[in-house]
Amino acid sequence: MGSITIRRLTKVYPGGVRALDALDLDVATGEFFALLGPSGCGKTTLLRTVAGLEAATGGTVRLGDEDVTRLQPGRRDVGMVFQDYALFPHMNVMDNIAYPLRVRRLGRAVRYARAAEAARELGLQGLERRRPGELSGGQQQRVALARAVVADPRVLLLDEPLSNLDARLRLEARTFLKRFQQRLAFTSVFVTHDQAEALALADRIAVMESGQIRQIGTPAEVFRRPANLFVASFIGSTPMNLLPGTVRGGAVAVAGTELPVPEEARGLLPDGQEVVCGVRPEYMEFSTEPVDGAFGGRVSVVENLGASSLVTLDVGGETVRVVVGEGAEVQLSAEGWASPRPGRVLLYRDGGLVTG
Ligand code: ADP
Ligand code: MG
Repeated sequence: MGSITIRRLTKVYPGGVRALDALDLDVATGEFFALLGPSGCGKTTLLRTVAGLEAATGGTVRLGDEDVTRLQPGRRDVGMVFQDYALFPHMNVMDNIAYPLRVRRLGRAVRYARAAEAARELGLQGLERRRPGELSGGQQQRVALARAVVADPRVLLLDEPLSNLDARLRLEARTFLKRFQQRLAFTSVFVTHDQAEALALADRIAVMESGQIRQIGTPAEVFRRPANLFVASFIGSTPMNLLPGTVRGGAVAVAGTELPVPEEARGLLPDGQEVVCGVRPEYMEFSTEPVDGAFGGRVSVVENLGASSLVTLDVGGETVRVVVGEGAEVQLSAEGWASPRPGRVLLYRDGGLVTG
C-alpha cells in the first residue's frame, strides 16, 4: 500500500482535448480520497492515467517511492473498479475475482484460496459459480471490488462505483463501501459527480473543473468554506445563495439589507468593492416577523424536504433560499425574513473567497 503523488500531470487526447491540465495531487497512505466534479472535467482520465491505462502527455505519477509514469498497467500494482464494472461475462464469479492472480501467474490453489477469501470478505458466498449476467447490480459491483483488491494492490481506484445502482441500493452500497475501506484501509481514490456521495464517504475531496483542481479539503472544509464560486455552487444538496453586493462603511449592501463584513475580510475590502455574498440555506433562520439585517421578501416556493422545507424568498430582484425546520408554518406569498447565522456569510471577490 502507498501514497500517490501526482505532479503537473497533463493529458491531451488526440484531437486536442486537454483533459488534465498540469494537475498536482497528493493522496496519503490509507486515505479515502474523492475526485468530485461535473461530467467531462477529467475524473476518469485522471484515474486511468494513474492506473496506466492512458499514457500521460506530461507530468509524473508516483506510487509510494516509485515513479510509475512510464510503467505498464500490469506493473503498477493498482486495483481498479470500472464504472460499468467490466466483468468478464463468460467467466463465473470465482474466475472473475481470481483473474488478476492468473495474470500474475500464481498457482491454481493459491488463486482460488485468495479469491474465496475476497469473495467472503465481500459477502459473495454462494454466488461463486454464477456468471455476471446472473447477478444483481449490487452483487456485480461487489465482484468488481473483490477483483480489484484480490491481489492486495498498493492503491485502489474506483470510477463512479455507485452510479449504476438504484437510489436505495446506492445508499446501502455507500455504507458498505465506507465500512470496507475503513476495515482494510486501502489507499483509495474514488470518482463521483455526486457531491453528497463525496461528502459522505471521503476523508478528503478534490473538486475538479476543466482538468484542474479547484479546491482540496476535508468534507467539512469544502462545505463550510468553498474556496471559490465554482466550488460554492457545486457543493451542497441545496445550492448556496450567492448574492451580489457592494462594500460600504464596513458592511456589505446586499439584496436590500446590510451584512457585517466578516472579521478576516476587514481591511481587505475598500469601500465600493463589488463582492458576492455566499450563505448556505441551512445556515439561515426564517422568520415571519421583520428582523434586523435579514433578507426580507415574499415566499414564492415551498419545497418539502421531509424533515424540513426549502423556502424560496423573492427579495427585490434576487432569490434567497432558506431551510426551515419541521413545524414552522410557511405560507405561500406571505412576507418572510431570512437571517444568516453569525459567522456564516462568506465573501467572494473576483470569484475567490476573501480570507485574511
Ligand atoms: P469525467 O470522467 O470527469 O466525466 P473524462 O475524463 O471522461 O471526464 O473526460 C474528460 C474530457 O476528455 C472530456 O472532454 C472528454 O470528452 C474527453 N475524452 C475522454 N476520453 C477521451 C478519448 N479517449 N479521446 C478523446 N477525448 C476524450
Ligand atoms: Mg467519468
